[in-house]
Amino acid sequence: MPFPSWGETREGHSMLKEAVEQLDRASHLLGLDPNVADRLRYPKRALVVTVPIRMDDGRVVSYTGYRVHHNVTLGPGKGGIRYSPTVSLEETTALAMWMTWKCALMNIPFGGAKGGVCCDTHKMSRREIQALTRRYTSEIVMLIGPERDIPAPDMYTNEQTMAWIMDTYSMQVGYSVPGVVTGKPVVVGGSLGRREATGIGLCNLIFATLDRLKLDPQKMTAVVQGFGNVGSVAALELWRDKVKVVAVSDVYGGAYHPAGLPVDALIRHVDEGGKVSEFPGATAVSNRELLEIPCDILTPCATAGQITKENAPKIQCRILAEGANGPTTLEADAILADKGVFIIPDVLGNAGGVTTSYFEWVQDTQKFFWDIGEINRQLERIMLQAFQEVLALSKERGVSHRMAALMIGISRVAEAMRFRGLYP
Ligand code: GLU
Repeated sequence: MPFPSWGETREGHSMLKEAVEQLDRASHLLGLDPNVADRLRYPKRALVVTVPIRMDDGRVVSYTGYRVHHNVTLGPGKGGIRYSPTVSLEETTALAMWMTWKCALMNIPFGGAKGGVCCDTHKMSRREIQALTRRYTSEIVMLIGPERDIPAPDMYTNEQTMAWIMDTYSMQVGYSVPGVVTGKPVVVGGSLGRREATGIGLCNLIFATLDRLKLDPQKMTAVVQGFGNVGSVAALELWRDKVKVVAVSDVYGGAYHPAGLPVDALIRHVDEGGKVSEFPGATAVSNRELLEIPCDILTPCATAGQITKENAPKIQCRILAEGANGPTTLEADAILADKGVFIIPDVLGNAGGVTTSYFEWVQDTQKFFWDIGEINRQLERIMLQAFQEVLALSKERGVSHRMAALMIGISRVAEAMRFRGLYP
């Protein structure tokens, strides 16, 4: 079976070009010193590794893995690890750059990093994925550590992957080091609420937006693209708060019901191995059609390059809340802005994940663990603080929310670089 794809909209799309273009525009608006602006266009370091593993049939297959540190001025590198056939040095670098701005925007003392292995986990056994994870970890061990760079889950990695990374690192140094990764199972030093944090943080901002626009959640409809760790939690949260979730999709396609989908039952259906598009009673839609369904809140929680200049004119939502990294191209952004769509941009919208990763790292470092109430209170506080800052700058400078979010993140990194000076 070929690797399921999120669709044709990714054609010709370069995440790194987008990320650099965003940086250039924000640098221009900030009037940034060109010496600093230029340095920020490149990663600090990038490691490419070969990851050979023995497959179940006895063959040895070599995969290619990456770990990129975009900028570590504000603290250790931070960012997820993704396992997908789209993973490349270019994609990983773009994602690392976005992590730099995201951490700075949230005022989290981390730099930006990202990693990944180009592979198709849908075709691999659990044993093969474990072997891949352990060998990849050994290959990047010189870059990671609680004070150097702290990986976390991303597409097609999860708490089990993080536990294997933590174990491999710990075996190499000879003692347990929970703080080397976040998004671990709670029993090995993970944080309560980390798994749900990206979806919950996104919903904190969606509800703050509804409040601001004086819209009643109970009269709202939502469409959620992606039903993984981000989309399924966001859909459930919206549904619990009485928003009518009319369509949801996974990588194979979507389910649509104008009267609203029972999200709890849909999660059970998927947990039992079902596909979203085969949910009984709903109409199957393609991922492309799904994005064009009229709704109040559109929540892309899948992958990059989903909303482009081709489909942006057909998108009919009031609020676009981005749970994925890079789902909307800059060209599409301008089209949506003209239509008056209220955008919660990715570096802000999906920052709940890394924010709770920060809490996890703090708890691991202090060996003192918080209750779920404390986690969710602190998460909401930090999400709303950044949201207010973005809206204020957007208004003050007359720029989009995305530009405002990038400008805040970039200016904090640039200021720190200026104070630290150029070494030697
Ligand atoms: N992979 C997530 C992101 O893109 C989380 C990163 C982290 O927790 O370090 O933001």
